[in-house]
Amino acid sequence: SDRAIVIGASHAGAQLCASLRQEGWVGEILLIGDEPTLPYHRPPLSKTYLSGTSSLDDLLIRPPDYYEKQGITLRHARVTALDRQARSITLSDGEEIGYATLALCLGARPRRLDIAGAELDGVHYLRDASDIEAIRDRLADTRNVVIIGAGYIGLEAAASLRTLGGTSVTVLESAQRVLQRVTAPEVSAFYARVHSEEGVELRTDVTVAAIEGDDRVRGVRLADGELLDADLVIVGIGVVPNTELAEAAGLAVDNGIAIDGSGLTSDPDIVAAGDCASFYSPRYERHVRLESVPNAGEHAKVAAATMCGKSKTLSALPWFWSDQYELKLQIAGLNDGYDEVVLRGDPVAGRSFACFYFKEGEMIAADCVNRPKEFMFSRRVLNERLPIDPGRLADPESSLAELLK
Ligand code: FAD
Repeated sequence: SDRAIVIGASHAGAQLCASLRQEGWVGEILLIGDEPTLPYHRPPLSKTYLSGTSSLDDLLIRPPDYYEKQGITLRHARVTALDRQARSITLSDGEEIGYATLALCLGARPRRLDIAGAELDGVHYLRDASDIEAIRDRLADTRNVVIIGAGYIGLEAAASLRTLGGTSVTVLESAQRVLQRVTAPEVSAFYARVHSEEGVELRTDVTVAAIEGDDRVRGVRLADGELLDADLVIVGIGVVPNTELAEAAGLAVDNGIAIDGSGLTSDPDIVAAGDCASFYSPRYERHVRLESVPNAGEHAKVAAATMCGKSKTLSALPWFWSDQYELKLQIAGLNDGYDEVVLRGDPVAGRSFACFYFKEGEMIAADCVNRPKEFMFSRRVLNERLPIDPGRLADPESSLAELLK
């Protein structure tokens, strides 16, 4: 067969199909996804889609007629099995389809809350457009929203709901501070301050013991016995990569479907891309599995080239963004193992600053809030591994252009 099958019709899958055509794939392309929509941008879900300022049509990754024009067949179905010997996949209705080359763009799913009451009506997650639609349908008869988890997605949801108004918003976090896993204490303190200025009630260092209610959610019980009123609970406690299909077929999995620098899995006829894939990063000297749109796009482009017999390698610097209120956060690099933080601007009183992370004297990452110039600067420094003097960087009078010389 000359058929390329791509499973998962979201950021990675849509880009991979487009790149296959660009790289010269002339055979059939079959894109299979289990959501009932055309591929759409996921980041706006917790931002403009939740606050009601964008519609699903605004979010489409490609216009509706794109797929047919490019000869890409989109099927809404769930793939339940993969037979590597027969080179075929099976759909949930039992149909088997053969492939010449296969791409797994399976993404990730929300980690479920594992406590009493978690299945009650009114407990929601944030992953698909349908999740956000269900939340929005409930808002009219909701007074108190409790969000569990103060990561980016939980905080974005809090900001969108405050912007909408009409409900109280409480965010619960079991760690000592918001965004603890991903940022420096200075950045956490900044976001905690802004959210409380915007009217969000933030409770860190709390353990959720149970969700309570009858036919629907009524409250959230904390481990110390306190009951918080809630008619809507939104859970944002991280994601789990969708690796089951790959695992069952005997592919190597390491916190994600393991891929090499060309996007190949442990089977030379199968690539993987996006949130479901993990790759060994020479720069970070470990397997990394990233959850971001730029990462899904890069994986997809490299994997498509590989499927067409060309050679490209993963090399992009990780980057990410988060929008909350009027704050545009742009993140470059990964900050693991940092031993020094340098600030430019004032995170304590202002709403615009940059936080640069250093490790053994080298800049490894930056969080830039309403600081596009610092973000461009940090990407350049990180890409080219330029030496930067932290003392001079910390001086707000020093020019970024001078620092690069
Ligand atoms: P996914 O988008 O998860 O897509 C995988 C698709 O495969 C899904 O449609 C799934 O239903 C389908 N699928 C899985 N298994 C099967 C199967 N067996 N058969 C058929 N179909 C299957 N990233 C940023 O860079 N910036 C942001 O600001 C940002 N904000 C976000 C906000 C929210 C609310 C969420 C949920 C994510 C956000 N992200 C953000 C992360 C970003 O959306 C993901 O990194 C990106 O969607 C990954 O794309 P993907 O194609 O790898 O996986």
